[in-house]
Amino acid sequence: MKSIWMDSTLIPRRNSLTGNKRTEVVIIGAGMAGILTAFYLQRHGVHVVVLEANRIGSGQSGFTTAKITSQHNLIYHKLEKSVGKESARLYGKANQLAVEEYGKLIKRYSIQCHYEKKDAYLYSVQESKKLLEEVQSAKELGMPASFVRETKLPFPVCGAVRFTGQAQFNPLEFIKEISSGITVYERTKVLKVQGHDVITDRGVVKAEKIVFASHYPFVNVPGFYFAKMYQEKSYVMELGPVEDLEGMYLGVDKKAYSFRNYDGKLLLGFGSHRTGKAPDTDPFITMRHTAEHLFHQAEEFRSWTAQDCMTLDSIPYIGTFSAFRPDWYVATGFGKWGMSSSMVAAKMLSMQITGKRTPYDAVFSPQRHHIKASALRFAEHGLESVKGLSAGVKPGAVNCPHMGCRLIWNQYDKRWECPCHGSGFEISGKISAGPAQQSLPFID
Ligand SMILES: Cc1cc2nc3c(=O)[nH]c(=O)nc-3n(C[C@H](O)[C@H](O)[C@H](O)COP(=O)(O)OP(=O)(O)OC[C@H]3O[C@@H](n4cnc5c(N)ncnc54)[C@H](O)[C@@H]3O)c2cc1C
Repeated sequence: MKSIWMDSTLIPRRNSLTGNKRTEVVIIGAGMAGILTAFYLQRHGVHVVVLEANRIGSGQSGFTTAKITSQHNLIYHKLEKSVGKESARLYGKANQLAVEEYGKLIKRYSIQCHYEKKDAYLYSVQESKKLLEEVQSAKELGMPASFVRETKLPFPVCGAVRFTGQAQFNPLEFIKEISSGITVYERTKVLKVQGHDVITDRGVVKAEKIVFASHYPFVNVPGFYFAKMYQEKSYVMELGPVEDLEGMYLGVDKKAYSFRNYDGKLLLGFGSHRTGKAPDTDPFITMRHTAEHLFHQAEEFRSWTAQDCMTLDSIPYIGTFSAFRPDWYVATGFGKWGMSSSMVAAKMLSMQITGKRTPYDAVFSPQRHHIKASALRFAEHGLESVKGLSAGVKPGAVNCPHMGCRLIWNQYDKRWECPCHGSGFEISGKISAGPAQQSLPFID
């Protein structure tokens, strides 16, 4: 399965690690978060090595729809209520600055990555009440929000929340340029981290500081990310030719769609569900019907799936990995908004690692306790994990190598999936998504 970005962008291959090395900072994972963090650390004069199990950009960053926006679904009204006005304001500010930082970087280094400024819209075909609440909260928090009654979507809406000054790009063209001056060892899998030693299948790298930018952290203890994060899967279809919709769109109703154009085509996104809880009907067939109805002259080119890490309070975990490991850092839990969040992480971690504080540290701290904001998801996640673990001890179960949960077969994505933490495996048993790190023994 390849995305439009993977088929259109060739990132030069890098060598694997040979033997042991020493460096100031090791970053595990060469996705958007890892590469950007390495880039800013290098700008601070820090010696960095990135270790990548597969290829640069081959993880979820290669499958994203790549909207660069601080409009993260209906988040501002929710955060204002759950974590308070000041934390919600800082969340929004960090992400809006991140959106602007992409524009500055791309201009400064003349990066050719199909970067386009676009407004972002959250639309509803059912009701405008929640949109109006979101506009009010977002505006009060200083976000560039307004309410509009009409959009360029090919169907009527009750209204939309518009954020101005947002953008979209080809993420792999961007990563290709930004990573060009960074030492990355590809096909070098980190097996274990012991204190300051990062042990890979090709050698050991000794580092003063270590950053986990591996999407879902694969070390269970300390950190306990398995108890506070799950994954959600969505489906993407590429159609063309489709006229420019003059914006990036996300529906807030149940079973709504996401839209963005790229190079005369349309990327249609659909279907958010917990990984390991496959939907009742084939999401690709549903998307095909919608595409035929809305864009009847368009042809279907490619389709793919992607998944992302969801935290208990909807805020990413960015900062020190655990109170017991002050030299380990983490950037995860981007909740399907990893373009702006990777930039937030890169800016924050490069400051923290060089001994500076940022105004956003407490809001994104992995050690925070937003009890009110986390209670519901904590209970749901706990229940799903207990179910998956107890099903895992039943005879005949296909078990996940991460913690032993029973894997579920997703017939639409043709993968084995873990309903507890979201690991994924191809039909052959080959690992396709963490936190599990090993493939399955061969499955028929
Ligand atoms: C359908 C969908 C659409 C999305 N669209 C958007 C969007 O429009 N805008 C937006 O902002 N966000 C979007 N997202 C979210 C975004 O794509 C992700 O949040 C982001 O790509 C995550 O980046 P990352 O660097 O954390 O992870 P990744 O890109 O997955 O990078 C992690 C890397 O770590 C490597 N790795 C893992 N384990 C090891 C190990 N043991 N040793 C060495 N390397 C290892 C992996 O191989 C991988 O390359 C979307 C998500 C989905 C599901």
